[in-house]
Amino acid sequence: MKAIENQIKEIAARLLQSGEVNIFLAWEKGDYEYQSKPYFARSVDDVDKIVFDQYCIHNLSNSLLKFRDSSDKIGLVVKGCDSRGIVRLLQDNQIERSRLYIVGVACPGMKDPLLAMKNHSGLFKVETEPEVAAKCQTCRYPNPVIYDELLGDQQAPRPQEARYAQVDAIEQMTADERYKFFEDTLSKCIRCYACRQACVACNCRLCIFDEMRPQWVGRETSISDNMMYHLVRASHMAGRCIECGECERVCPVNIPLMLINRKLIKDVDKFFGPYDAGIKYEEGVKPPLSLYQENDPDNFI
Ligand code: SF4
Ligand code: SF4
Ligand code: SF4
Repeated sequence: MKAIENQIKEIAARLLQSGEVNIFLAWEKGDYEYQSKPYFARSVDDVDKIVFDQYCIHNLSNSLLKFRDSSDKIGLVVKGCDSRGIVRLLQDNQIERSRLYIVGVACPGMKDPLLAMKNHSGLFKVETEPEVAAKCQTCRYPNPVIYDELLGDQQAPRPQEARYAQVDAIEQMTADERYKFFEDTLSKCIRCYACRQACVACNCRLCIFDEMRPQWVGRETSISDNMMYHLVRASHMAGRCIECGECERVCPVNIPLMLINRKLIKDVDKFFGPYDAGIKYEEGVKPPLSLYQENDPDNFI
């Protein structure tokens, strides 16, 4: 990974020096070995701090939302999942392709910094730290799907057997069992909204959960308000979730959000597919559930 890090630094220095970009998004090291965090280099002098290692797990495409109203030209490094986030943002008209210089890195899989932190704390020892983070274990697109320059050796998609295993198990339950399962699971949610903040597809300027007049969803952590939050979040993700796993990764109380996301992914694929969100950007082409036509066969709305 050191060789890739050096290549990233060279590209960042070249782009900032020439003025082709005025910000370059990558990662920098935190205080501990397992802390690699998003980093914005604004000059050639900043480039030295850039790192690329096994803990560069944050999806950087989400950071582009901070710049959607600026005219900055932005360079950034993307792994496979990050690159799907960029397609998502382009399809949602959140940023223009012409403002981006995308450095793709074929991703060998990242380690989970939160597991490493728990181990380090000594309070929550994890017996065997998996080779790669949960979100990487079924990764279908480790190679960037959109880029201007590509680094690293092409990686094979990871085995898919476990991808829908939990969804299939829930589908076998009775309606009452399912309700109980989700009641128990979602009652733990503390409504911190970390899942929303980490999500590249959660990009509405005014989120329904922040609106006060009218207040659509109560702010208590009661089971009804929690369920409402998760139902609305899930419906807004249908056909849009790029399966980056960031929401589940950042949840402080381990809510299995990918279970809900994968149910949506499975159904959208079945009813509108074959379809994987965020794998191809074609200007003007809208993905499923993004386009309303008056002759739609469904008269729900
Ligand atoms: S989900 Fe895929 S592309 Fe993203 S960090 Fe994991 S292995 Fe890399
Ligand atoms: S990150 Fe977890 S606890 Fe926080 S709102 Fe999302 S599901 Fe709830
Ligand atoms: S819902 Fe989760 S997995 Fe899907 S795009 Fe958002 S953060 Fe990624």
